[in-house]
Amino acid sequence: YYNENTIIYFDGAYVKASEAKIDLYGQSLHYGYAVFEGIRAYKTASGEVKVFKAKEHFDRFKRSCELIHIPYNFNNEELVKACYKVLEMNNLEEAYIRPLAFCPPNMTLKAASETHVMICAWEWGAYLGEKLLRVMTSSYQRPNPKAFKIESKSAGLYVNSILASQEAKEKGFDEALLLDINGNVGEGPGANIFFEKDGKIFTPPPGNILPGITRATVIEICQELNIPLEEKLFTTDELKKADAVFYCGTAAEIVGWDSLDNQTFGKPFGESLGKVIQQAYKAKVLEKEFKREAIPA
Ligand code: PMP
Repeated sequence: YYNENTIIYFDGAYVKASEAKIDLYGQSLHYGYAVFEGIRAYKTASGEVKVFKAKEHFDRFKRSCELIHIPYNFNNEELVKACYKVLEMNNLEEAYIRPLAFCPPNMTLKAASETHVMICAWEWGAYLGEKLLRVMTSSYQRPNPKAFKIESKSAGLYVNSILASQEAKEKGFDEALLLDINGNVGEGPGANIFFEKDGKIFTPPPGNILPGITRATVIEICQELNIPLEEKLFTTDELKKADAVFYCGTAAEIVGWDSLDNQTFGKPFGESLGKVIQQAYKAKVLEKEFKREAIPA
């Protein structure tokens, strides 16, 4: 992720990652009381490097902090500028950008009164790879929204994601699918889910999931391409009867599924609406024109 020359943004300054120091008595380290973002920069068709949906990501960054009472005294326009500067100083064009808001030393369980912020970036390929995913229904649920601010992209929540991913890998799958507390389909450890059935796309509504920015982009693409879409709760029984399924997220981008619990779907992903959406997404991040030519029936 970094070497001795890597520069990060840290509390308003640009410093070497290898020299930046954090306190071992920090509340964030002990209690997972921190917020992060995951953003991507792309070298667009014009040759210019652009941070995709930077405003939306930093809006969520702020909201995530506010939801769990981490003071947010940052100016988002400055943080966006800092992203560009970090990219430039590290000679990065296509990169993953990781802002992190964390709290100073405090061993109590009182909300923080001060916040640190850092932004780092590194080159990162498609997080879940390019091939179709073999997914298993996790034995872990997504956290209860009454036990946590589930819409906050908080560090502590990701222990749940690590447990689910690890379980899937141990059982020989590529990735996990987590249900919500009511047994409906929730999301992946780091991605939102969509499925296709009879020419229409479905995704769970907000409430028990992280409101993904890629999810919002997929909804936008469906509107632009006149692909019918519905937000609704559904079970794995319904999902297993789908024509095709995909995960989406900033790190993973759009990635099709091969199977759920070893059961494949109605049509090959390559002939699905997900494939069209995947291509449209790629065009959008690269600021290329996209024409929906061959629409799968
Ligand atoms: N759900 C979870 C649990 C995630 O960690 C992510 C990745 N941030 C997503 C969904 C997708 O969100 P986004 O599209 O904003 O990256």
